[in-house]
Amino acid sequence: MKIAVYPGSFDPITNGHLDVIERAAKLFEKVIVAVIHNPEKNPYFNFKERIAMIKAAVPHCKNVEIDSFDGLLVDYVRTKKARSIVRGLRAVSDFDYEFQMALTNRKMASEIETVFLMTDYKYSYLSSSFVKQIARRGGDISGLVPPAVAKRLMKAKGAK
Ligand code: ADP
Repeated sequence: MKIAVYPGSFDPITNGHLDVIERAAKLFEKVIVAVIHNPEKNPYFNFKERIAMIKAAVPHCKNVEIDSFDGLLVDYVRTKKARSIVRGLRAVSDFDYEFQMALTNRKMASEIETVFLMTDYKYSYLSSSFVKQIARRGGDISGLVPPAVAKRLMKAKGAK
């Protein structure tokens, strides 16, 4: 089976991430969206909340699973018997970091290939951090994130 892992912080998932997930789901038999368990990065949402928001966004993608991991990405990919890592590309600004990560992962695990998918241009400016900033300042985030995320961000704002 052709399995791909799409790793990320997803803090929170945006429509840009969702666009990449939907594209990957058409290319691979199974896509595992893997949330990095990174408490040291001080995420806005804990990993359980991030997973719940992804789950709520992908019921239409039958071949997509959601999981979390810590430690080395290539070790996790191997345990899942996957051969591909999916990453999304927005603009040239993503390239340096993604290039470095892909080549480092290839050095550690030459059998695993990183596949880059380009998002729809309408999401090319979108990032989790922008969405959080807009929500914090009371801006309209519908259309930028799945409905469950918009609801959760509005709730978080109301609690402050
Ligand atoms: P990380 O901390 O691993 O970069 P992110 O959740 O920020 O985690 O991003 C995960 C992946 O999704 C990265 O490859 C990133 O470039 C990609 N990505 C993030 N936002 C978008 C978007 N709007 N369109 C396409 N890809 C995106």
